[in-house]
Formats: sequence, structure tokens, C-alpha cells
Amino acid sequence: MKIKQMPTELANKIAAGEVVERPASVVKELVENSIDANSTSIKVEIVEAGIGQIKVIDNGDGMTAADSETAFLPHATSKIRTENDLFHVRTLGFRGEALASIAAVSKLTVKTSTGDEAGITLHLEGGKVVERKKSDARKGTEITVDQLFYNTPARLKYMKSLHTELGHITDLLNRLALSHPEIRFEAIHNERVLFKTAGTGDLLQVISQVYGMSVARKMLPIQYKSLDFHIEGFIAKPEVTRASRNFISTIINGRYIKSFPLTKAITEGYHTLLPIGKYPIVILKIDMDPILVDVNVHPTKLEVRFSKDKELFEAVRGTIKKTFRSQTLIPEIEQRPVKPKFESTQPSFVFSPQAEPIERNSSIQPIFEKTQFAQTEPIAEYEQEIPTAAEEIIREEPEVEAIVQPAEIPSSLEQKKNEGPERVPPIYPIGQLQGTYILGQNENGLYMIDQHAAQERIKYEFFRDKLGKPIKESQELLIPLTFEFSSQEALFIEEYREAFEEVGLFFEPFGHRSYIIRSHPNWFPEGFEEEVIREMIEQIMNEEKVNIEAIREDAAIMMSCKRSIKANHYLTEKDMFRLLEDLRTTTDPFTCPHGRPIIVHFTTYELEKMFKRIM
Ligand code: ADP
Ligand code: MG
Repeated sequence: MKIKQMPTELANKIAAGEVVERPASVVKELVENSIDANSTSIKVEIVEAGIGQIKVIDNGDGMTAADSETAFLPHATSKIRTENDLFHVRTLGFRGEALASIAAVSKLTVKTSTGDEAGITLHLEGGKVVERKKSDARKGTEITVDQLFYNTPARLKYMKSLHTELGHITDLLNRLALSHPEIRFEAIHNERVLFKTAGTGDLLQVISQVYGMSVARKMLPIQYKSLDFHIEGFIAKPEVTRASRNFISTIINGRYIKSFPLTKAITEGYHTLLPIGKYPIVILKIDMDPILVDVNVHPTKLEVRFSKDKELFEAVRGTIKKTFRSQTLIPEIEQRPVKPKFESTQPSFVFSPQAEPIERNSSIQPIFEKTQFAQTEPIAEYEQEIPTAAEEIIREEPEVEAIVQPAEIPSSLEQKKNEGPERVPPIYPIGQLQGTYILGQNENGLYMIDQHAAQERIKYEFFRDKLGKPIKESQELLIPLTFEFSSQEALFIEEYREAFEEVGLFFEPFGHRSYIIRSHPNWFPEGFEEEVIREMIEQIMNEEKVNIEAIREDAAIMMSCKRSIKANHYLTEKDMFRLLEDLRTTTDPFTCPHGRPIIVHFTTYELEKMFKRIM
């Protein structure tokens, strides 16, 4: 056997496989080069999802004639010179491979000028310059990639449908535009404009140009600052969701990156506010000392590692959670224009004379003996000032006498009475619709509440709290439970025995892969022991570490769902009232643990408008 050096051409083709996986990768490399070259305007023209042609035109620094040739040599880069530089790279590209790789698998034309002298146009085929000529001195660079993968038929064969490839390209362009609100982007596919951004530096404006006005309107700004991180950006209200994570963009030091744990921290910030399988729209810009980021772990430089990852993820999660805590998330039935801020120095309460408290019917009489209405002052300028839902309902905790009997529905009312301003005012039941929805009212209008979702939320928080407490109270079982597990499960039980014991579960070996449980934590719902135990094991298997939080979460969600009143279940007025009161005291009264809405609100204003009482 003889060892031979590969011909450069072949080496480049192989390298190309790493960098140029699909048309979107070409677009990415070219646009990032344009960004690195200080462009303020970048136009991307795509034909047939990039298989036809990819053209990127920028107004950046441009290249001299000599540089334009070296740029296509492998490992040619103007961005890094010493190893030390690697840690301080703030520009996007630094491997010096992209142009060589792209040129190796296409027919490429570059026209460039620094603006000082005549420009140059080079034509390359399969990485070799086949033509060079002078061109005009317009400052900037224009690169056209034709017949991508013409000489690598295998690559071409693996292309997905044009639709899929175009999807990758638009996804990428969206994110590049979002990462650089200060750059004007124009994206065109088959002569149709995909989007245009203004380059004014206004991120919300870019969001609106890329994702549309209706999305931009539902975005909330967020901000966080610590010694290590500056985080800012926009997060969509949970009512706007998407079916993929593609709408979560994370930008570190000006570079769009992918980080699974970071994305996870974001979705965890949304917590139970999102339906299962749904993802939010989020644009997060995080700035930190480059020394804290390792961007060089993946050939296409998308994946990164963080030195202070735990702190970062916690900051992200916490900031998002905090934002929602201060928001009212009841979706309104109709979109209203944003109204001026409701100004009132003391916490006040909008009182509408039409909305009388509920009929004092005998069964709910005691509830209203101590009514809050007396303590509130009607606001005269109701006609002019229509407060938004958030403003309407944030006010002091009223003194509600909890007269409901503790029963199988846990009442969290007592424990949480003094926990800051409540977000849902008292709602008084009017009746039940189709055995499924509770209709309720108060001075702010009409509410429809999904009784099952409401109870799920209440129970979920109840179980979550219970599960979260260190468990001392165990329950001895009259008849011990015996379980048989798979060998893998048994392995996990052995390995995490301590962790299980910490949450009050004691496995006693009982022959081959079988265990006896003689006692379990008090909170275990009767009849669901096996499910909860299996759920816990599954959790540990998936997480590969003991995540009591997550066990708690999942078990709480499962138990809350299984044990909650279903639709088509008729409730007494007293039951309804108690459900509504308990709901009010939950920390997240607006969505069930699966993220579905619980409350729909028709404001008095909307009702009056509907009936043309006001115009
Ligand atoms: P890298 O970006 O990693 O340096 P590339 O192969 O992508 O490697 O580019 C090689 C070099 O070509 C860059 O370092 C830069 O000097 C030059 N270059 C590429 N694209 C442009 C552009 N649009 N404008 C100006 N210079 C460019
Ligand atoms: Mg580059």
C-alpha cells in the first residue's frame, strides 16, 4: 500500500461535504461573509430553492483583485491569524473553508471591488478559476453560485424536495435578518420577494417584517443584565405558538447559533403555558465575554458550548418566567387597538353599573354577604378610558371569605392568600354550559371557563406543591404492591435507589426483577400508584439523572389530568364558585398544564359594543 496525498480538488470536495451540506449552507456562508465584510445592505436572490441559482449581493468592504483569488484557496481567511484569536472571534466565519468548498461543488462567479480601484470578476468551475476580467468599481461583492453539486451527483441525489430546501433557506434568512436588525436584507425566491427589512436597528420592526404584524403585536420585550450576561429580545405570548422550534432564535454576540440546552431553557421559561408539541416564537440576543463561549465545536459553527451554562440557562428561564408572571394571559375574543395607559395612582377597580353582581340566589347567598363591591370606587372616566384586560384586573387582593368546604378538590386559597397581586378578579358563576363550561361574570364582563382545564390547573399546582415538599409522611400499605420490571428498569431502580427513597419510595427486592413496595408517599393518589411509580422510573431513565423537579412536574400533570372532572359533568353552583375561587389563587390561572386556555373573557366593553350600546 502506498500513501499518497490527495489531489487538492478531491480534498476540497470532501471538505465541501462538511461545509456545504445543502443549498441553505451556501446561503449561510455567503451571507455571513457579507455581514463580516461590514455590509449594511444584503440582497439574496434564490432560484429553484438554490439548486437553480444562489446570488448574494452586498455593499461591504469588497476584495482586491489579489485577495479575491486567495479567498478561494482552502483555509484562506482574513479573520484569524493565531490560535489565540480563536477565542476572540466576534466575526461569523473563521475557518477559511467556505468559499473554497462552495466553489469546489459549483460554477461560481464573484464580482468584487473595494471601491478604490476597478473591480474584478472571476469565474470558477469546480474550484478552478477559468476566467478573470476587470469590472466596475462599485464597492461590495456579488457572488453567484450556479449548478450547485453539478459534480457531486450523490449530494444532489440526497437533496430533499425543493419545498424542504427552500424551507431551510427561509428559516436561515429569517434568523440572519433577526440577528442583524441594523442590516437591510432583501430575500427573493423565483423573483418573488420573501421579505425585506429596513435596516433601522429596530428588532421589533424586523420581527414584523419577517414574521408579520400579527406576530409582532403579540411579542413582549424582555431584558436581563448581570456581570456575565446581557440578555434582551422578544418573546411571544403563549397564545401564539408554532409547531417547531424553528421560531426560536438565539443570537450570541451577534451570531445566530443553535444550542439545544439554551432552547430548552427558553421553553422551560414558558413552562406549562404552552400546549404539548407547541413552541414559542422567541428572539433572544445574548452578549457575553467571548471567552465564555466556545463556538468552534461544529464545522458549520452553529453549535456552541458555554462556560457558565447553568447560570446562563437559569437567567434565561427566570427572565421569561418573570415576564409572564406580570402578565394577564387570558386571550381576548377580539383584538383591540392598544389603548393609552390607564392612569390611576391607587389600585382601583373599574365598575360598570350594568354589571350587577350575580342574583343572590339562596344556595350561594353567603358568598356575597361580604361583597367587594362596596369597597371600590367607581371610576368616572370609564367612557374615555378603556383599560386593557391586564389593567382591569390587577388590583389589591380582596378580602374573600373562604366559606367553601374542604373536600376532594384541594383548596389552595388559604395558603396563597398573601402572595402579591392576583391576576384574576373574583368571578361569580352564572351557570354551566353543556355541562362543560362555567359561565361567570363580574364587573369586567363575562367569562367562560373550561371546568376540566381549570381543575387540572388547580390540582396540578396542588400536587406540584405536595410533591415538592420533602416527604416525611409515608403511608403504610395494608396490602403491599408487587411490581415486575424490565431488566433495564430494574437496573435503574438499583442505581437510583437513594433518589427514590428521597421522594418516599422504597423498593424491596423480591426475586428476579420484582420489587415490593410496602409504603409510599402520602400524596400518591389511590388507584394510580403503579402509574406514578412507572412514570418516575421512566423519568429517571430519560433524564439519566434524578430530576425530582421533573418527576414532580410530570406526575403532577398526570395526576391532575386523570383526576379532574371531565366535560359533561354537572356542577352545583357551590362547586362552581369554589372552582373559580381556587383557580384564582393558582399561580398560572390562564392555561392548563398542557397549555390549553382555561378562561375566555368577554369584556363589558365588548359586550356593549356587540349590542351597540356604545359605538
Ligand atoms: P472565512 O469567512 O472563514 O474567512 P471564507 O472562505 O468564507 O472564509 O472567506 C474567505 C475570505 O474571503 C474571507 O476571510 C474574506 O476576507 C473574503 N471574503 C469572502 N466573502 C467576502 C465578501 N462578501 N466581502 C468581502 N470579503 C469577502
Ligand atoms: Mg466565511
